[in-house]
Amino acid sequence: MLIMTSLATYAADPSQTLGRQFQEPASETRNAFQRDRDRIIHSTAFRRLEYKTQVFVNHEGDLFRTRLTHSLEVAQMARAIARTLNLHEDLTEAIALAHDLGHTPFGHAGQDALNECMRDFGGFEHNLQSLRVVEKLELRYAEFDGLNLTFEVREGILKHCAIKNARLLGDVGQRFLDKTSPSLEAQLTNFADEIAYNNHDIDDGLRSGLITIDQLSKVELFAQNLATVKAAYPKLEQKRLIHETVRRMINTLVVDLCTQSAQNIAQHHPKSIHDIRQLPPLISFSSEVAGQNQKLKQFLRKNLYHHYKVNRMSAKAARIVRELFAGFYENIGLLPDEFQAYAEVDKARAVADYIAGMTDRFAIREHRKLFTVEEYL
Ligand code: MG
Repeated sequence: MLIMTSLATYAADPSQTLGRQFQEPASETRNAFQRDRDRIIHSTAFRRLEYKTQVFVNHEGDLFRTRLTHSLEVAQMARAIARTLNLHEDLTEAIALAHDLGHTPFGHAGQDALNECMRDFGGFEHNLQSLRVVEKLELRYAEFDGLNLTFEVREGILKHCAIKNARLLGDVGQRFLDKTSPSLEAQLTNFADEIAYNNHDIDDGLRSGLITIDQLSKVELFAQNLATVKAAYPKLEQKRLIHETVRRMINTLVVDLCTQSAQNIAQHHPKSIHDIRQLPPLISFSSEVAGQNQKLKQFLRKNLYHHYKVNRMSAKAARIVRELFAGFYENIGLLPDEFQAYAEVDKARAVADYIAGMTDRFAIREHRKLFTVEEYL
């Protein structure tokens, strides 16, 4: 039985948090991580996730995942894993809900295009941008910019980071220089993200018709679970067949992750979160399932993310981002007032912040407003 009952000594503890950047009195009703989660949910960037996509452009259909539904799925899985491993559920939930806040419109295509535009200005990386959103860009509180989240949540948001950027990030950048580990809550949320998007991309991919069950039958993880479902329900209609298979795949991955991670933890017997930070990452799949998961990712990359219909959406998306960037960079007078002030300080970054904050449909509209003569302003 995997389920444990009380918080581990090496779990993150909100009463022992490494703190916020600006001192604040504690909440009377919520622990520090719950408060962070609530601040994230009430942020502008969080609401915009509803109209941002991962693979499909938002207006392609209402049936597909958006970054909002993705973030909710990640939070659900992360909480379940945290509870099973006796780790802090509120912290994983906060990290999960915030992990994609810095994403550009149009998913990977938008991020790559904006990174290319920012090549001579320090680049653009969605992970760093998520941190920038919660530290600087949300302007809601009287006493500080950003959401003033605890160190543990910010640490979890920053999944990876180049050394040159780590040096500029202060406390949360330090572990990339020291080569230490983040909390187990941060580690597991990262896996929950991957489990969520691989599986929902299969689901969205099948439902959109861009990939087929036949193709996927060559992927072991899918094939095994498909066979189990077919054996139990030989006459099942396609829609239910897909869901029953995908839910078993998620379960296979989650159970393996929890089992292997519990073994890793037992082997290293950490006593505190301090030990966790000094140890190698302890959250992992078994090597067998890690291999299967890798094959699944390769399949998706080849057959879905680079499907010609997705390539067409991506090419259009990249063009919109590039043209918006060039247009604003050339004339910062076109930016809304609040971005103009910062553009005086750092023009490229202000333009990138503005574009990154856009939803898919806003970017499409903004592009039309700027470049189409007939469009009413
Ligand atoms: Mg994600």
